[in-house]
Amino acid sequence: MKTIIGLDEFRLARRALHGTVGLVPTMGYLHEGHLSLLRRAKAECQNVILTIFVNPTQFGANEDLSKYPRDLKRDLALVEPLGVDLVWTPTAEEMYPSGYQTWVAVEALTKKLEGAMRPSHFQGVTTVVAKLFNLTQPDKAYFGQKDAQQATVIRQMVRDLNFPLEVAVCPIVREADGLALSSRNKYLEGADRQAALVLFHALNAAQELYAHGERHAEMLRLKMKEIIKAERRAQMQYVSCADMDTLEELDLIKGKALLSLAVFIGQTRLIDNFILG
Ligand code: AMP
Repeated sequence: MKTIIGLDEFRLARRALHGTVGLVPTMGYLHEGHLSLLRRAKAECQNVILTIFVNPTQFGANEDLSKYPRDLKRDLALVEPLGVDLVWTPTAEEMYPSGYQTWVAVEALTKKLEGAMRPSHFQGVTTVVAKLFNLTQPDKAYFGQKDAQQATVIRQMVRDLNFPLEVAVCPIVREADGLALSSRNKYLEGADRQAALVLFHALNAAQELYAHGERHAEMLRLKMKEIIKAERRAQMQYVSCADMDTLEELDLIKGKALLSLAVFIGQTRLIDNFILG
């Protein structure tokens, strides 16, 4: 496993790889969710590139960029046994040198859900992912269903900009009690950890209604709201039952639907989702 910081050094190392390349882009502070992406990439590609970059342009002014958890030594120890070929940890100065002025923006899809709450977030994501695609030239890139809208937006960008690669979306990895793994779970202390289960409980309750035949999306949204309101440590940002592809809110659920929500537990903002159908 080779760990690289500099862009020029990375280009050279990339050029020396032969065969197919799988890319797993992350912001580090790795957990089993990230490792599941790396394992799948390793199983499907001859070479695996992991990038670790806390991308400043996807954080809003009042978000947690400066305190986002970082521990490169720990990350490298976690991935060493997985057979990752290159770990690239670019710097913000190299990704966005002084005078930087080019952005990639996906339009309608990024106005909804996370995009409605975090207006510049997806422009930061698509820009950095497009740059990582250009620099790593992967055959396949791996993302998590945990960030459902991100996966949809990246698929759209890949189609629209003709990136010659396949996007793979991997299932959400959860703790034994259902909490979706997230680097931000580190912020959850004491009673907040237990309260954070409200996201999973709300999704389960809505899914149960669906399993009993409920097809009115509003009934599912109301159920999720009811459960979140009952947890006094939780502050709801949104709940949604939307079309999987367009992310438009649904009236009646016919095909596949994305149940998703964003909730603050104290200062910590958590997201989660289930796919129905
Ligand atoms: P992040 O480091 O949070 O930017 O995440 C990097 C990649 O890991 C993204 O594609 C995420 O969707 C994915 N990921 C994060 N958490 C999980 C999880 N619990 N299960 C599966 N994939 C995840």
